[in-house]
Amino acid sequence: MPRLSAARISHFLPSLVLLLAGLAAAYVRDLNVFFTSLFNVLPTLVLLLGGAYCAVYRRQRELFLMVTVYIAYYLLDTQTDFYRDNGKLREDAAVVFHLVCLILPMLYGLFGAWAERTHLFQDIVARCAVLLAVSAVALGLEQSFPAALLEWLADIRWPSLHGQWMSLIQLAYPMFFIAFVVLTVQYVRFPRPLHAAQLVGLIGMFWALPKTFILPFTLNILCSQVMLMIAAAVAHEAYQMAFRDELTGLPGRRALNERMQRLGRNYVLAMTDVDHFKKFNDTHGHDVGDQVLRLVASKLSKVSGGGRAYRYGGEEFALVFAGKTLEECMPHLEVIRGVIAAYNIQLRNPDRPQDDLQGRQRRAGSAATSVSVTVSIGVCERMPEQRTPEEVLKAADQALYAAKSAGRNCVVSYGQNRRGAVRTAATA
Ligand code: GH3
Ligand code: MG
Ligand code: MG
Repeated sequence: MPRLSAARISHFLPSLVLLLAGLAAAYVRDLNVFFTSLFNVLPTLVLLLGGAYCAVYRRQRELFLMVTVYIAYYLLDTQTDFYRDNGKLREDAAVVFHLVCLILPMLYGLFGAWAERTHLFQDIVARCAVLLAVSAVALGLEQSFPAALLEWLADIRWPSLHGQWMSLIQLAYPMFFIAFVVLTVQYVRFPRPLHAAQLVGLIGMFWALPKTFILPFTLNILCSQVMLMIAAAVAHEAYQMAFRDELTGLPGRRALNERMQRLGRNYVLAMTDVDHFKKFNDTHGHDVGDQVLRLVASKLSKVSGGGRAYRYGGEEFALVFAGKTLEECMPHLEVIRGVIAAYNIQLRNPDRPQDDLQGRQRRAGSAATSVSVTVSIGVCERMPEQRTPEEVLKAADQALYAAKSAGRNCVVSYGQNRRGAVRTAATA
């Protein structure tokens, strides 16, 4: 399961924070007027804002998830309002509540797992059709055969499986379970913030439904939180798309540009370039090249001394050391250069053509093949005459050229470069 490693706590964090905040707010019994009014309008407000946001990003899957949650909220809120005002349940309360418990996880799981594939318009029509069909059937049955429907819904089909703690109709549990399994499998296969948010949202609704008539505002709060989770996941993914490099997972050029605008007076920038990478690609193929880039990126991301790695483009990476001096950074750059040079990369496909790669390719046993790459690093500390970070980066790039000229696999600073490209370290 190679993609499991990509599962990140950061995918779940915003949703879990929202869920915990929702749970905490739901347990507050004496709310003042401000919060009472806020919670009354919150779900509608979140739907309007989140829905508009999803529409702008053309994310109809998320839009329909929100609409599904909102419809469930609306139907139940009408019931809880009646209960609060009259001190008793409305006549159709039981059948409406049971229907929502059954249909909500069903539609939520379906819309959550239904990725946008086809043409935008067709996709919306198909989703609308499903939503309308399910609603029409439910409404038709509720209007025509309320008593029979209630009996069918409330029936305990599997007495041996029925626990005392089950406060929803028995049919709702397999529905929630199926939705949970489907969304979990989806997250494991494609770990991304939206899939994580859908899972946490489902758990939130599973918790909230039995409390509908017990805890005031549970429904308003949790439904709002679930819609917020979805909107936050859309924002998270948009941010990732803009600022993260897809291949390596490092922050990309745009993120570097933004970071460079926020650097203070003292900082060090380093440019890192993989040596003879074109030849490496030609020898081992582009896929192995990509694998190596990922590995180099992963090593660079762990650079010590407070450095932060960015993919600048191609096989070039930038390292930013904010608030550091050259003397402080040099040992860490030297360490990371050494770590990359010493790392033996096991090739997944030993059938690929294997040439000498300048004598650095080694064999581990007869079948497995391991290779290694080196990097050259040019580094520059910000000097008083340099006005912008771009100038410092340019100077680091010049130092990188000097490192290449000095024989590669070394760290060269701009100061040394100006004195004639002194090589600080080299272990070829
Ligand atoms: P030098 O030691 O002077 O840096 O030599 P080089 O071959 O590394 O330099 P050059 O800039 O000529 O080659 C860069 C190569 O990096 C060209 C391209 O094939 C490869 N490359 C750039 N981006 C990617 C990528 O995303 N994946 C792979 N596999 N290769 C890439
Ligand atoms: Mg290059
Ligand atoms: Mg290169």
